[in-house]
Amino acid sequence: MLSNTRVVVWGEFRHEKADPKVGAIYPLGIHGTIADFLRRDPDLDVSTAWLDQPDHGLGGDVLEKTDVLVWWGHIAHREVSDELVARIHRRVLEGMGLVVLHSGHYSKIFKSLMGTTCSLKWRESTDKERIWNIAPHHPITQGIGDYFEIPAEEMYGEPFGIPAPDELIFISWFTGGEVFRSGATWQRGNGKVFYFRPGHETYPAYHQAEVQKVIVNAVRWARPTVRVPDSCPNSPALEPLPEDPEAAERSTMGFR
Ligand code: ZN
Repeated sequence: MLSNTRVVVWGEFRHEKADPKVGAIYPLGIHGTIADFLRRDPDLDVSTAWLDQPDHGLGGDVLEKTDVLVWWGHIAHREVSDELVARIHRRVLEGMGLVVLHSGHYSKIFKSLMGTTCSLKWRESTDKERIWNIAPHHPITQGIGDYFEIPAEEMYGEPFGIPAPDELIFISWFTGGEVFRSGATWQRGNGKVFYFRPGHETYPAYHQAEVQKVIVNAVRWARPTVRVPDSCPNSPALEPLPEDPEAAERSTMGFR
């Protein structure tokens, strides 16, 4: 019998405490709300972690035991320790799934996995967002029709500084006229990465059924298929070069 998928929903958990408007929308915290609807799936064992816990809630062997990590951050990306980001990066390359939400586009972990700026245009106004399903075959879009709408959301616009996705599955249109690649996947090593746009803290997107459906589908899609540790003990690149009588001469010429 397959064991359950172990999911950790990580939230920054700052806006909810600092801004009563956000706290009213997400009394459990954004991470708590996401964990709540993921727990309705009996195949998922869901826990939460947040920035201000020791080791940002991901210390000890938590990451080692995580199959899929869900990430929401915004105003405190810089406070996430580089050591943790390196550990998450390694786990993704080994096979752990990563689902990055909304302003997590600018998180250290997403930028490090993408290798690009991950910047974008934005406007916090009264835009309606229409999210088009352009990959109806894809596991993440199952149960989503041709499109769905979020009545009010922050606008994100192109150009979005990401590398070309392996699969682009959602495109958003906003009432301001902008469009945005709002759902995209990448393979990084043995791990799957999914970015999904909705979820500005002052709007209730994570209470909306279609948004929840996409995130549940994404977590199921991102489950590891293998775990491959990063090891290459005989890598010549990491060993000293053999003695070479011409090496000293080359090095004095600036070649190495
Ligand atoms: Zn936002």
